[in-house]
Amino acid sequence: MKSLIFTISLLFSYVIVAQTNQQLYAIIDSISEKRIQKDILTLVNFGTRNTFSDTLSNTRGIGAARRWIKSEFETISKTCHNCLNVFYQKDFVSKKGNKRVPHDAWVVNVVAIQKGTKYPNRYIIMSGDIDSRASDTMDYNTDAPGANDNASGMAGTIEAARVLSQYKFESSIIYVGLSGEEQGLFGGAGLAKYAKEKNWDIIGVLNNDMIGNIKGIDGVIDNRTFRIFSEPVAPTETERERTLRRFYGGEVDGISRQLARYIYKTTKTYMPEMNPMMVYRLDRFGRGGHHRPFNDLGYSGIRIMEAHENYTQQHQDIREENGIKYGDVIEHVNFEYAKKLTAINAINLASIASAPPAPMHVAIGGIVQPSVKFKWNKVKGAIGYKIYWRDTTSPTWDYSRYVGNVSEFTLKGIVIDNYFFGIASIGKNGFESVVTFPNKIFKD
Ligand SMILES: [Zn+2]
Repeated sequence: MKSLIFTISLLFSYVIVAQTNQQLYAIIDSISEKRIQKDILTLVNFGTRNTFSDTLSNTRGIGAARRWIKSEFETISKTCHNCLNVFYQKDFVSKKGNKRVPHDAWVVNVVAIQKGTKYPNRYIIMSGDIDSRASDTMDYNTDAPGANDNASGMAGTIEAARVLSQYKFESSIIYVGLSGEEQGLFGGAGLAKYAKEKNWDIIGVLNNDMIGNIKGIDGVIDNRTFRIFSEPVAPTETERERTLRRFYGGEVDGISRQLARYIYKTTKTYMPEMNPMMVYRLDRFGRGGHHRPFNDLGYSGIRIMEAHENYTQQHQDIREENGIKYGDVIEHVNFEYAKKLTAINAINLASIASAPPAPMHVAIGGIVQPSVKFKWNKVKGAIGYKIYWRDTTSPTWDYSRYVGNVSEFTLKGIVIDNYFFGIASIGKNGFESVVTFPNKIFKD
């Protein structure tokens, strides 16, 4: 009898996992290269989307661009019984004290929120940028098509909204076009502050910035590899947390890094033809992006982008010099690649928004003992937990054990010194949360 029940429950869990898989594969198949191409073209045709460009014209400048993005989100919302709450979120920036601000202006983000059915105040965010720039970032008149930087990320975000709005998720998903990126990450800073004021529980930010170039300045052509940038630990950590890290580890296990590992794993599982490349740094060397303002406030956030950039096609006036064609024009964008990276975002948004919250408090023990022990607070909505571990030199969670619906567990024969550990929550639907790295120590 016991084995029959076991067989049935095993069968049941196979069915659940099969459904989970089918939903994510269906999402991948629904992302449209054609629609992404069309949207990038529309954005490019606004001439310039410099944050300080014209706001009144209906055909040129940042004003026309953001109104079009808003209307696009509203059109999507109509196809899902108004499932998106679409609005402008804006902050005023002034010339005074800002070297890269040519005149006072409103920095306007376009936000579309798909409310979660179970955890409406938990948010996973996908962002792209509305704005573009010419060679001189203060020049808001010259054409700046910004086809790859960053109409590609913006178009991907709109396309993810189109596809995912046809589903319902337990947590909320935000699709956002941010502005003011090129002059100082103003839009991201504004929205991060807004999120804090509204007390949003942000699971993480997937910032998409340049997801359409496959031909690098290094001569490499690669339509499979993409980068996931994540900072090592939150900049908001306390002095005490910093001190404890010396003794208990965690130098490469901050919240953004766990989000990066989640994306890595989802990609390897559902789109194994792609090569996710985790880069262990906040962003490119000395350069920035719109996930940073969220990181600044202690939120988890990563940057998704192409692996091989072409600098003659970024932040450049359109021109030809010594036989080199400069400018971020649409001819250089590979729409199929932008589609793949959009699909990677979409399955991660879907997976995270379908999963229960990660365990908040995870305590670890086992000093001078042959086994490692864990205690954690159970999460409402989770039916079980998975303990992950890895060699200290490995970037990915290579070993795991499902331990059921318990709040403590001992991994026998595993010595605490030789691995790093973490715990994820599992939902009834089979979806998993991001891994929580232990944040407490116990001795007994
Ligand atoms: Zn840029």
